[in-house]
Amino acid sequence: MPRGDEGMIHHRKLDKGSRGIGMTSAGTRGRLVDRLRDHGIRDERVLKAILQVPRHEFVDEALSSRAYEDTALPISNRQTISQPWVVAKMTEALLDGGSPQKILEIGTGSGYQAAILAHLVPQVFTVERIKELLKTARRRFHALGLHNIHTRHADGHLGWPSQAPFDGIIITAAARTLPSELLEQLRPGGLLVLPLEQQGQQRLLALRRSEDGFEETDLGGVTFVPLLSGLE
Ligand code: SAH
Repeated sequence: MPRGDEGMIHHRKLDKGSRGIGMTSAGTRGRLVDRLRDHGIRDERVLKAILQVPRHEFVDEALSSRAYEDTALPISNRQTISQPWVVAKMTEALLDGGSPQKILEIGTGSGYQAAILAHLVPQVFTVERIKELLKTARRRFHALGLHNIHTRHADGHLGWPSQAPFDGIIITAAARTLPSELLEQLRPGGLLVLPLEQQGQQRLLALRRSEDGFEETDLGGVTFVPLLSGLE
């Protein structure tokens, strides 16, 4: 794991004094951003997006006081909203200092990652296999005025062929093999960022499509729910 637990404990300590009031305020969000910067997130555009998106709107109200801890949290249907550091790291890898115009996300979940991307990229396409999660995420996008996110209820293994090619594709559930249809929907030079399970361990990878294959960067160990087939 690239993220030490000691950081989490530190953040809990920080929050203790403010229990009950201001837990979802811009100040609390600012502390999360400071923490992510301290833990190696360098792209200021990504940090700014994290400052702008109210993560507490993407979890159940009962968990909103924990929304700015740097930890994954449960959402409905046995799924999770990713840890902020992981969202930041994946987003940073996907941008890679450039300005992609069109991104495909597989695994909408709560919608948080898509909302972050919507602040950074003109067009975001996101696919989710669980209808109920997608409905809730769509409501959130609407309420937050994020009109550049296009959603689809489908099995993400198939990508979104009619919108291909994409400048970048991000898979937010752990795959066991590289989904070939998705690789084909990436434009040359584009990046695929995903957690890939290898020998029982999940690694966060960034793959850049080149003329004759893919260049791989390993971004460290992670824990994601599995990429599944079919619809719910
Ligand atoms: N990006 C999400 C993280 C959600 S967890 C967020 O910011 O909250 C992973 C999500 O991937 C789950 O919602 C799960 O239902 C979805 N998923 C798993 N396999 C999928 C598939 N084949 N196609 C589309 N979505 C899938």
